[in-house]
Order: sequence, then structure tokens, then C-alpha cells
Amino acid sequence: MKKVLIIEDEWNIFELIKFNLETQGFNVEGVQDGGLAIEKILEYQPDLIILDLMLPGKDGITICRDVRINPDISYTPIIMLTAKSEEFDKVLGLEIGADDYMTKPFGVKELCARVKAVLRRTESLLFKEEEAIKIGELLIEPKAFEVYLDEKKLALTLKEYELLVFLAKHRGQVLTRDQLLDQIWGFDYYGETRTVDVHIRYLRKKIEDQSEHGRKFIETVRGVGYRFVEKIED
Ligand code: CA
Repeated sequence: MKKVLIIEDEWNIFELIKFNLETQGFNVEGVQDGGLAIEKILEYQPDLIILDLMLPGKDGITICRDVRINPDISYTPIIMLTAKSEEFDKVLGLEIGADDYMTKPFGVKELCARVKAVLRRTESLLFKEEEAIKIGELLIEPKAFEVYLDEKKLALTLKEYELLVFLAKHRGQVLTRDQLLDQIWGFDYYGETRTVDVHIRYLRKKIEDQSEHGRKFIETVRGVGYRFVEKIED
């Protein structure tokens, strides 16, 4: 049974989502205080998090960031809930690593559909039997859903992970932004190639040495897209 954690301080909204997800066979738990969210996520180990933006204790953006930097839970998909009056744009959502978001008031059926869609995506990634990919000191273990650099486990978001695996599998090839957008996000997503650039930037920060002559895995092919290096020169 898939586990969904709802982090939401409005009781009626929590109850509504919980009821609908439980009807569809999910195991659901909730937290109302943002300050207790991370502790609860670590304990409950949800398959997906529904996260409200405005919360007492700690806000949704901070919680999302905290999840994304913790290697034990960084892959957990997050759907953010925001109110229309709150200045939450898609670029911000993307930069903090939310997988999707919905604006209140939202249809609970639509939310349930998105929960399933995000979980399907995650699952298709998780259960692929694939060989490990090793490039220099970078090791991708698709079976365990883990990435190591210099033997240290990295905290990647789901999108960063997908992007890395796709690039690494096609190493040596130039991939256009549109190809990457289509492959990793699908056309139903934000549909902006800037999305790709933002994620490449975050991925680089995590796997590359930022100094001028530091180790580089991803090359920018100006005006076209990106290419993952075939090997790392020693
Ligand atoms: Ca709230």
C-alpha cells in the first residue's frame, strides 16, 4: 500500500484529501505543524508528500528544501499546495524541487489523479532492472536509486536523478533541451526549456567541481543543449 503524507494545517482540506486517497487504497497520515514535518517524513517514509505552502512552525518552501538536501528522503516526490493569493510561481516551485503543484481551491479528484501520475513515474524509475553506470568517480546504482560521488551518497531530487541517468546513458551524444524536456518532464509539464537549464545547473552544483579546471561531467553545447562526457580524464 502506497503511503502519502499530507502536511497541511487546514483540517477540512486534510480530511478531504485523506478521505479521497484512502478510498483509492492509499495509506494516509498527516502533520499540521511544519516544525514537525521532517521528523514525521523520516519516521513514516512516505512514497509521496502533499505539502501546503503556508504552515505554522515551518513553511512549505523550507520543508521542501530540507527534504531535498537529506539523502535519506531527497527523492520523495512532492506536490505543493498553494493559495491563489500567495506569490508562488512555477519557477520557484521548480527551483526548490517540487514535482508538481496545485492552486487552492483545487478539485480533489484532480489532486488524486496527479498523486497517481507522480507515483507511476517514480515507480517506473524504481523498478527498472539496470546495470550500474560508472563514469570516473561518479557511480549511479539504478537498482538502489542511489548516486555516489567519490564514494559519498548524493542527495538528488527525483528530476535531477532522472536527468542524470538519461544524460549518462546517452553519454557522448548531444541532447537538445527539447529532447530532455520531453523525456524527463513530458509535454504536459511546464513546457519551458528554461526548466532544463535550471535543473542542469543544480545537478552540476552537486556533481561537479565549480572551479575553472575542476572535474566536469556535463558540457554545454551552445545553442543546442547538453552532452555528458564519455569518460573522465585522469
Ligand atoms: Ca496552510
